[in-house]
Formats: sequence, structure tokens, C-alpha cells
Amino acid sequence: MSDLKYNSYARFLKNKFGCKIKKISIDGGFTCPNKDGTKGKGGCIFCNELSYTPIPSVKDNIVQSIQNQITSDKYRYIAYFQTNTNTYSSKDDLTKKYDSALSASPLIIGLNIGTRCDCFQDYVLDIIAEYAKKTYLTIDIGIESIYDQTLKTINRGHDYNSVVDTLNILNNLKKSRNINFDVCGHIIIGFPWETKNNWILYANEINKLPIDHLKINNLQVVKNTKLAEMYNEKPFNLLSSDEYIEFTANFLSYLSPKIVIQRLTSHCPKDLLLYPKWSISKFNFHEKLYVYMEKNNLFQGSKVEGALR
Ligand code: SF4
Repeated sequence: MSDLKYNSYARFLKNKFGCKIKKISIDGGFTCPNKDGTKGKGGCIFCNELSYTPIPSVKDNIVQSIQNQITSDKYRYIAYFQTNTNTYSSKDDLTKKYDSALSASPLIIGLNIGTRCDCFQDYVLDIIAEYAKKTYLTIDIGIESIYDQTLKTINRGHDYNSVVDTLNILNNLKKSRNINFDVCGHIIIGFPWETKNNWILYANEINKLPIDHLKINNLQVVKNTKLAEMYNEKPFNLLSSDEYIEFTANFLSYLSPKIVIQRLTSHCPKDLLLYPKWSISKFNFHEKLYVYMEKNNLFQGSKVEGALR
């Protein structure tokens, strides 16, 4: 960890597979229960699915979509069902789509499935157990916030306890079926009504969860979202790049060093991002983060009592 100051996903994958691994984003043609009225309408206030849908989207042809994105046989690839809620469908549809992804190329070594905590019916758990035996499986779950008031304000359609319950169910699934897969939580940092102290408490709370990986997203205002409407009506404070670096460094120092960091900033395409403009490129985020952490003698887990590096 000494070179990067945190437990990086790239290195985790390199150690696991012995070569560079890339993710291929897929639009599997799923929808979301928070948009279609099952859990809610309108979706989360920050969500514009185009901001995380591969371009061009080939949702009716998963094999072609994957093959289009394979750039070299030097690498191995993880097929990432990213758009919308990718366990929200029938058993047959899910297995058909996951099988298509795995069969698209011998270079595919894993599946990554992004979903919500309220889309884990019993047959979904059975499917997870089945695919965990045949490939390297990662389940992404949007935590977004540990605060119910925030989850309500962003129209998430579930509370924090529902996330914790689902994470525990997945953890029990691993133990009861003697299988292994990775669980990755997503959080969003920078809601204007939360304070920096709130954000440090996130780390303490996240340390208690049975997750293996974490994606940290800075709040972005994306075109054609409810959040953009709110911002245009009454602009609110968004973190500057320096503030976000300071936050990230301190957050990581309180985070267990066992948690693999998959992402440290949001990745919205330029043409859809409204604010903050600094997050259009990763600029030299990682270099600046390193310098800040080095200067302040911080590393992932440095403030976690008894943490081993
Ligand atoms: S962020 Fe995810 S859960 Fe929320 S509306 Fe978008 S697809 Fe649905």
C-alpha cells in the first residue's frame, strides 16, 4: 500500500489474476424499480443513466457490446452490468444475459453486477451462488448514504437499514453455500446538507459493513436530473477539488485497510456534467492526493486503531 497510500483495486486485480484487468461496461437492457413505480418514480435525484451507459449502447446485443470494447488480448476483462438495476428481472432473463456476457470472449474472467439492496429475491440469491462458482463475481450495491434523511431527500426509495440487512444476507450466503464473491458498496460524498464530520463518520460506519470493496463518488450535478433542477433554482455548495482531496485523504485514514478502493471520484462524461467542473478530468487527482497524504503522514487505516497494513 505504501506506493499509493491506499488499497487499490488495480493492484488487487493484478495480484489476483497476474495481469492487467479492464472493466467493460454493459447496458443489459434492464430498468429500475425506483423509476418504473414499483419502489418509486423519477429515480434518484442525481441519476441520469446516460452518464454511466457505454457509448454506443448496444443493449440488445450484449456479446457485440463486449466484443466492441475489447481492445487487446494482452488484457483480461470483467463484464460490468452497470446501467440501471441489473438483478431486476426474471430468473430466465438474468441468466440469459449473464451467460451472454461470459460467452462473449474467452478473455472475460468475471462478472460485475450493479444493483440496489431491494432487488435480491430468493432466486437472485440462487443465481449469485451459481455464478460465484463459475466466475469471479462482484456485486455492486448502492449505499449512497448512511443517513436516512439524505436517502429520503435523494428519493432513493429505501433506508440505510435495508442496505445493512441485504449486505448481511449476502455475507450469510457466502458462508451457508461455502462460496466466495466480492461485494462493493457505493457512497456519494458532498451532499450540501452534510458536514465534513458527517463524512468522517461514514468511514467508521463503512468499516462495520460486510463489504470487500468501496467506490467513493463526489457529488456531481448531471444534466437532465432533478438535482440539476434544484441547483438551477437555488445553487448550493459543491466541494472544490482541494476540499475533496482533503476529505478523501482523511476519510481513507479512518477506513479499514482491508477494504479495496475501486474508485475515488465520479466519472460522468464531459458533455453531461454541469458541476463541479474540476471533476471533468481526473486531472492529477491521484498525484495531489498522494502529496497531501504524504505531507500529513496519512494512509488508508492510519487512524484506525489496531489496523494492520
Ligand atoms: S441511481 Fe440506480 S437506483 Fe437510483 S434511479 Fe438510477 S438506476 Fe435506479
